Amino acid sequence: PQRADFVVVANRLPVDLERLEDGTERWKHSPGGLVTALEPFLRARRGAWVGWPGVADTEVEPFTDEDMHLHPVPLSSAEFRDYYEGFSNATLWPLYHDVVVPPVFDRSWWDAYQRVNRRFAEAAARVSAEGATVWVQDYQLQLVPAMLRELRPDLRIGFFLHIPFPPVELFMQLPWRTEIVRGLLGADLVGFHRPGGAQNFLWLARRLAGFEPSRGQVGVRSRPGVVQVGDRTVRVGAFPISIASAELDRLARSKEVQQRAREIRRELGEPRRIMLGVDRLDYTKGIDVRLHAMHELLADGHIKAEDVAMIQIATPSRERVEHYKQMREDIEREVGRINGEFGRVGHPAVHYLHTSVDRKDLVAFYCAADVMVVTPVRDGMNLVCKEYVACRHDLGGALVLSEFAGAAAELTSAFLVNPHNLDGVKDALLAALDIDEAEGRRRMRALRRQVLTHDVDRWARSFLEALGTPHAE
Ligand code: UDP
Repeated sequence: PQRADFVVVANRLPVDLERLEDGTERWKHSPGGLVTALEPFLRARRGAWVGWPGVADTEVEPFTDEDMHLHPVPLSSAEFRDYYEGFSNATLWPLYHDVVVPPVFDRSWWDAYQRVNRRFAEAAARVSAEGATVWVQDYQLQLVPAMLRELRPDLRIGFFLHIPFPPVELFMQLPWRTEIVRGLLGADLVGFHRPGGAQNFLWLARRLAGFEPSRGQVGVRSRPGVVQVGDRTVRVGAFPISIASAELDRLARSKEVQQRAREIRRELGEPRRIMLGVDRLDYTKGIDVRLHAMHELLADGHIKAEDVAMIQIATPSRERVEHYKQMREDIEREVGRINGEFGRVGHPAVHYLHTSVDRKDLVAFYCAADVMVVTPVRDGMNLVCKEYVACRHDLGGALVLSEFAGAAAELTSAFLVNPHNLDGVKDALLAALDIDEAEGRRRMRALRRQVLTHDVDRWARSFLEALGTPHAE
């Protein structure tokens, strides 16, 4: 295959192979934030992307899509089950998100995780040119840096974790904790969203792998920690990810979106206020928290259903994993209860959509919403809240944001809440619903200053600069 100087390795390719009913196949652009972030970077550098094409039990040849080389890594359906749904999403995901649900420790899943990580490392080794920069993404591939370094010591390897890195007490529960830490230490730079995550990792590098950090306190971007691993130096730092702010700002200003936003308000019957939640249907997102708060506010008589409409967009996610099935049932039962008690024919209190919406519609929802409600019990960053801010050029709208989202460190002018404190969430919702215009504009202006100056491009560049690669230019 064609070898590249700049290589991204991620669980998924930026395109998905879709199998149509008539048996034919086609490529579809996958919409994720990571793709939006890295694709322009990669194209500009004629780079390569190594990842799974989204369909199991299928071998796909490498191909080139306008300046970007795509290298599919195959997975069998058993590997998808054990490596992806199992180890990645039923072991690591809950463990790294503060054990919101109990993680499952299954030795056969771990075997699959190692096997699949090795396959990704071998694919990356094949497609990387001499001295290339390889950027490995996220929790599904934490063993790749060390495996790749063994195959190709000439490469410059970066790793970024897109989810929280847990407190050491929780990480220590993992039976394969030392292997994971050693896997990550194969990189030249290990990046996290928050300094706390980087700090935890430094502590574990010493405790589990015996490598003494030579520089302690980690700050955001500017001050990576340093670990000496044999004759190599591994840097460890915090790089909070962001969004393509300017592009969203532009889209939100378009006539089409503004008109759609007005239409949404009309369709809802012009309520005085609209609250909005947009989340993958995941137990970390605290969708239940805002529903309980809404339920109590309606029951207490603090708000009225004809006055305040709530829209919850819940995009389908990991539907075969047991906890996700259970949670979906719980949430949909609660939506039904609220509407049963407080809705009227043609006027539900909660408008619940179990679907994903296209980008323009999503932006129109952001523009139509008076209060954006983001209440995860734990979230690495949370991009939805940044997107909301980027869309509010009118300085309207208010953001209620959980302290336990990574974004809370930057978006300090939001109404910050502890999602475990239901009264606090209710108070914040009421305050946001009733905010006076000047105060709302002041807060939104401060939020926008942060989001528009710290976009995803800046994130990628600062990571690559710290990695010391010429591709940061
Ligand atoms: N999103 C989307 N379609 C939808 C709803 C959301 O593409 O119907 C996008 C949203 O714009 C955001 C991403 O999904 O960019 C969610 O990112 P976030 O960090 O908030 O949560 P994650 O799902 O990564 O945990």
